[in-house]
Amino acid sequence: MTHHVPTGLPDHIQHYIDGEFVDSVDGDTFDVLDPVTNETYTTAAAGKKADIDLAVAAATRAFAEGPWPRMKPRERSRILNRIADAVEARDAELAEWETFDTGLPITQALGQAQRAAENFRFFADLIVAQSDDSYKVPGAQVNYVNRKPIGVAGLITPWNTPFMLESWKLAPALASGCTVVLKPAEFTPLSASLWAGIFEDAGLPKGVFNLVNGLGEDAGDALVKHPGVPLISFTGESSTGALIFSNAAPMLKGLSMELGGKSPAVVFADADLDAAIDSTLFGVFSLNGERCTAGSRILVERSIYDEFCTRYAARAAAIVVGDPHDPKTEVGSLVHPEHYAKVMSYVEIGKGEGRLLAGGGRPEGLDTGNYVSPTVFADVAPTARIFQEEIFGPVVCITPFDSDAEALELANGVKYGLAAYLWTTNLTRAHTFAQNVEAGMVWLNSHNVRDLRTPFGGVKASGLGHEGGYRSIDFYTDQQAVHITLGPVHTPRFGAS
Ligand code: NAD
Repeated sequence: MTHHVPTGLPDHIQHYIDGEFVDSVDGDTFDVLDPVTNETYTTAAAGKKADIDLAVAAATRAFAEGPWPRMKPRERSRILNRIADAVEARDAELAEWETFDTGLPITQALGQAQRAAENFRFFADLIVAQSDDSYKVPGAQVNYVNRKPIGVAGLITPWNTPFMLESWKLAPALASGCTVVLKPAEFTPLSASLWAGIFEDAGLPKGVFNLVNGLGEDAGDALVKHPGVPLISFTGESSTGALIFSNAAPMLKGLSMELGGKSPAVVFADADLDAAIDSTLFGVFSLNGERCTAGSRILVERSIYDEFCTRYAARAAAIVVGDPHDPKTEVGSLVHPEHYAKVMSYVEIGKGEGRLLAGGGRPEGLDTGNYVSPTVFADVAPTARIFQEEIFGPVVCITPFDSDAEALELANGVKYGLAAYLWTTNLTRAHTFAQNVEAGMVWLNSHNVRDLRTPFGGVKASGLGHEGGYRSIDFYTDQQAVHITLGPVHTPRFGAS
């Protein structure tokens, strides 16, 4: 197989602190692998507490003394729009780098780069349109909300669609007037290294954006525990989220947690079956299955179960797995050999828990790299590990149900609650089910197509708090209530009689 290597790749990736590219204070580095060969193609600076201290100091100075938090929303918006323009103009190059670093199929990486630009454009608009409440108490008071950026925001992001997920936090944090320290995922630092240049060109003041690479337990942990960082926005695994929650608790930090998922796609007998099959295939096999909102448990009404399984498995077996840079590729290589080993271990577990209908190992002809055949297990019991645990790869389980009540019980019978996808043409059933399913987001007769104004987030082990639209601005700002007295105020006169 040919392997495309982009030109201009850095031979070393540094931190970006106070407007300068720098190495770690202790000079430490870590290796970054290309997921198609699993060979080291570059190194990155391995940040520790000392580097986080420098980044937080720069962000604190920029917040206390710099222009960014004090600029008019329109001025910040102009810079955010210039960032969006720059990301859009470089979308092909960005996608090429992202594909090289993550193994995501190039066509899908391109969509993610464009979405990153859209995130900046959206928050550029929102911050200008933002208005705050004021209240009149006739003859007595006027009260108004004085919205203020909270300060230095700590942003910690995962390796699946890294650039897009970074933009999701950077755009609202910057729009709100916060300064930031970003700690990107250590598997995929490449595309994050492009932010500094894009921001400088767009005119973002020095010190507003800082980036520290490094391992979660070093750089991430130091950011979470830093007393000068009042809020942390985290996307990653539920177990990491729980650890961060406890580490941040002594300082009562503001936390936003976007965590793991094991989302159900429920297909009723009255559904448009062709559309449901297209959508449930895309819903779990796009982005290599490394997708928090993947519909990785398909629940199918018994009367159409056999037909669904047969048709679904035939399509899954025909999915094109291969070189992530080939535009024909539908599933590329998983991000890292450690993650590949985890996904493959679930494939083996699944062989003892369900009936293997497609995939089940490495695709023929792809002998190196982190390739997994799209894998389908049917007849999976709700107690099975592959039904309960997030695999985060191209692996799906299918389970039959006989009634709406049973479908709901199966859908809700896991610790996660991120997304749910329902396929039915019955309006009453669709809304009744949607309102009872334990999921932060529900799609009726669709895969995940999201309007940026809507709340994003999960319930149960899938997250804490919702971002999206003005909720993101609420997270990065404090709404101080200012009360103005009109006329004399009635005060009980203690000690006056
Ligand atoms: P992860 O939890 O291993 O790592 C995420 C980030 O946290 C990385 O930057 C890592 O370095 C850092 N980190 C690790 N330990 C830390 C610690 N002790 N303190 C501070 N930071 C620490 O997750 P991952 O494997 O990179 O990503 C996959 C997970 O992310 C999946 O569970 C997926 O569902 C979830 N995810 C959720 C959403 C969502 O919006 N809900 C979106 C994408 C991914």
